[in-house]
Amino acid sequence: MPSFLDTVNQSIIIRSEFLSHDKYGLSQTKRELNVHRFIVLLITLSVSLTSAANEIMGEVTLVGSMQQGGMLVGKVVPGSQVSLDGVSVMVADDGNFAIGFDRDAKSDAELIVMSVNGDMTRQSLAIRQRDYKIQRIEGIAKKIMSPNEASLKRIRSEAAEVRQARAQLLPRLDFAGAFQWPLRGPISGVYGSQRVYNGVPKRPHYGVDVAAPTGTPVSTPAPGVVTLAHPDMFYSGGTLIIDHGHGVSSTLMHLSKVLVDVGDEVVPGDIVAEVGAGGRATGPHLDWRMNWLKARIDPQLLVLPMPPVALNNND
Ligand SMILES: [Zn+2]
Repeated sequence: MPSFLDTVNQSIIIRSEFLSHDKYGLSQTKRELNVHRFIVLLITLSVSLTSAANEIMGEVTLVGSMQQGGMLVGKVVPGSQVSLDGVSVMVADDGNFAIGFDRDAKSDAELIVMSVNGDMTRQSLAIRQRDYKIQRIEGIAKKIMSPNEASLKRIRSEAAEVRQARAQLLPRLDFAGAFQWPLRGPISGVYGSQRVYNGVPKRPHYGVDVAAPTGTPVSTPAPGVVTLAHPDMFYSGGTLIIDHGHGVSSTLMHLSKVLVDVGDEVVPGDIVAEVGAGGRATGPHLDWRMNWLKARIDPQLLVLPMPPVALNNND
């Protein structure tokens, strides 16, 4: 007698890579589905109702990177409810949803889909575990390394502002489209590295760092609405948070200039800020972070490899 799970048709995994370098143009990549290094996981759940007929009761499609730091865009039949590890996930009217896995997410997660007529399907997700680098950084100013009482107060209130901005669940669907690099330049720091500042182990690095001169224009990685625009935070200098909907947001840090305001709608190509070296930074660069609510997402998993940087500087 087949069990319920035996009737679930299991995963089809498709791996696909872009080989062509002419895909690098920012405008060309704008609406393109970024499948580079992505695993497209299609889970078809079909439940046998009677001996006479099979009827598809529910279907979940997940597109994205099933690993620590990965974000996936899911689709269910409109009206279905979704939960991840027991926590309810926002589902759009068209059935789209987002899920994401933190830097240290454990190796398995459970996705439950409840259809409109109450049928429940469970899918266990295998989250690939990653190894992270150790990055040593010297030359951080003492006032940044050992903040005084006034600075600690400022740090706490700024952290609360950031948490609040990232906790929003806006019904926009920008997260389901393509992401692109907010600027071009050498990558000087990656997601997940264990950071050691002046010999002292600190929190891991959650963003991707792109080195560029102060004043270099920065665009938004995807369409969204500005939910935080701060000229100078203690650790992150000029800071912008752009919300892409359903708890997915980009944070752009160490900016010398913030050129947009809270509530502004932005699209890739819009210049939203300029690169700087504010906060805990040893030189000018952009630190691009991504969140799905509290989960830290690796932005590099959502974009094509950094295009070659033109060497047109005269210095
Ligand atoms: Zn950084």
